[in-house]
Amino acid sequence: MFDLPLSALAARLRDRKVSSEELTRLFLGRIARLDPGLNAFITVDEDKALASARAADARLAAGKAEALTGIPIAHKDLFCAKGWKTTCGSRMLADFVSPYDAHVVEQFDRAGAVLVGKANMDEFAMGSSNENSFFGPARNPWDTTRVPGGSSGGSAAAVAARLVPAATGTDTGGSIRQPASHTGTAGIRPTYGAVSRYGMVAFASSLDQGGALGKSAEDLALMLNVMAGFDERDSTSIERPKEDYARDLAKPLAGLRVGLPKQYFTADLSADVAACVNAAIAELGRLGATTVEVSLPNQALAVPVYYVIAPAEASSNLSRFDGVRYGHRASGYADLDDMYRKSRAEGFGAEVQRRILVGTYVLSHGYYDAYYLQAQKVRRLIARDFTEAFRDCDVIAGPAAPAVAFPIGAKSSDPVQMYLEDLYTISVNLAGLPGLSVPCGFGAGGLPVGLQVIGRHFDEARMLNVAHQFQQATDWHRRRPPGID
Ligand code: GLN
Repeated sequence: MFDLPLSALAARLRDRKVSSEELTRLFLGRIARLDPGLNAFITVDEDKALASARAADARLAAGKAEALTGIPIAHKDLFCAKGWKTTCGSRMLADFVSPYDAHVVEQFDRAGAVLVGKANMDEFAMGSSNENSFFGPARNPWDTTRVPGGSSGGSAAAVAARLVPAATGTDTGGSIRQPASHTGTAGIRPTYGAVSRYGMVAFASSLDQGGALGKSAEDLALMLNVMAGFDERDSTSIERPKEDYARDLAKPLAGLRVGLPKQYFTADLSADVAACVNAAIAELGRLGATTVEVSLPNQALAVPVYYVIAPAEASSNLSRFDGVRYGHRASGYADLDDMYRKSRAEGFGAEVQRRILVGTYVLSHGYYDAYYLQAQKVRRLIARDFTEAFRDCDVIAGPAAPAVAFPIGAKSSDPVQMYLEDLYTISVNLAGLPGLSVPCGFGAGGLPVGLQVIGRHFDEARMLNVAHQFQQATDWHRRRPPGID
């Protein structure tokens, strides 16, 4: 039962073949047994989970269930959840108990989903491996000596090991798609503005977007149906009619035009990943799609531009952590300035401090025009490249990560190598576009590889259609890590 898709779990709950309490106990038992070796969770709360499972059972009995009522889920630990520790993977917030719910958390509560725990992540969502977590690295269930990717590494590991059927994540530069690729799970980052950022601890506000991880495209559609939608408390939330993201899943792919950016298929892409992605594209061809080469001429500038803009926004967003209002405060200090300095030096890890320094520098008088403003101009060009490419195609396909998951520690001493993990995902964030990754094979060492599908703004239903049709013809998404049973 732990392996079933969300729709099958929902049917069993509705038909009273299993209660939400039984289902929740099943997953809590798996967490107790398997998570000590994975560290996918920062917090698990059995009492809270069982209480909401019982509430879901009452709702199911009353015939008032929705699609996800009674289904256990996890939230990445940067979604504020009332009464839950919300650490953001940081010592700064290690003891912070949120007094309110994020919009996303509210939406899942309203739908009757059962929150079992908060998933591990890179500190403040900065990272590609989960190694930057104050709570220790999460491990990849396919090979526990390797990273699950990041920053939503805990969510991805939890879904891959079937510790929960689905989880939320956020993607500022690739943090849903890259860990999905590394763990053989499915993950979607929706269009910027589709999911409210209210109550999501801010990293880089113009790039951050909440999304979901699950086993299949269909699962992702059901998750988005709950989490997406207008929220007036987020000024960048877009007011559009509610949509059913599952509406086009069954559509045949005949006539679909798939764009292949020539800048994605170069020597930067490892051969094993390229082989899997090319085979997946050939499969889309068998399903009726045609392919066309497209060009994203400014692709090489995406990582450098991101590492100006994201730290700039982070340095501003993280200024609120001053030891005064909430978060870590140093125990001894000489005066107010010393308290700020010590609290921030102790509360933030090395990568977060590096970003604050870089961000403060690029925003400072004399450098603002040369770095920040210049980066904003190139960001516009990167977005324009996609607009041009989408004249010739309906979706873009390519890799989600340049290689399979790497060993823990392999890139920790070289930040630039770590930053290059997001070579194929970051430009999507800079352009505000939606992107997803679904499993499409196994590369070196038998480790999972993801196929990335990128769509036009608000074209999630079509991307999910493409991914679902691919999953009807293949079974990569049904493979489980060895020893995970
Ligand atoms: N790996 C990228 C970074 O470190 C992206 C992280 C994210 O998407 N949150 O910033």
